[in-house]
Amino acid sequence: MAGIDAPRRRKVTADPHPELEEAVAVSRFWANVKRSDEGCWIWAGSLDGNGYGEFFYRGRNRRAHELALSFTTGEKRHESLETCHSCDNPPCVNPGHLRFDTRKSNVDDMVQRGRAARSGKLSDAEVVLIRERRARGARQIDLAEQFGVSDGQISMIVRGLRWPEVGGPIEAKRNQYRKAA
Ligand SMILES: [Zn+2]
Repeated sequence: MAGIDAPRRRKVTADPHPELEEAVAVSRFWANVKRSDEGCWIWAGSLDGNGYGEFFYRGRNRRAHELALSFTTGEKRHESLETCHSCDNPPCVNPGHLRFDTRKSNVDDMVQRGRAARSGKLSDAEVVLIRERRARGARQIDLAEQFGVSDGQISMIVRGLRWPEVGGPIEAKRNQYRKAA
């Protein structure tokens, strides 16, 4: 039997407030993390068979490192991408060590370094992916860093001011000169 001070989980049924349930879930999540000023933040909750942290969230077990990145940046992972560790440490959930990226660059970080060095050349597929990630909440600063282009270039891409013909979701214009009809 647990000590008398052990908190008891109660199910909120009478008057559920979705935003509070969300806040409780996120608080519980971070309670499982041993943070450090530098280095990896190790997941202290349960691990899956591959050594990744797992956390029950919105009805099912999910990978803790993916949630850590989403809870920090507000970006929901695009289905074509993986949540990649720069530290190669599966139980680490330090958002500074994580990024949403392709499987290819996950196994070969040389691709990542080469990407940063090529200064602004993007394929059509990458332009579409930038727009799709932005639509899922990606921060422009993260997109700029990962694709090796400037914040301003990302901004023009997501608003369709550059390469509008390539495709992908265009961010709604907040331009005072373009009033909706
Ligand atoms: Zn790490």
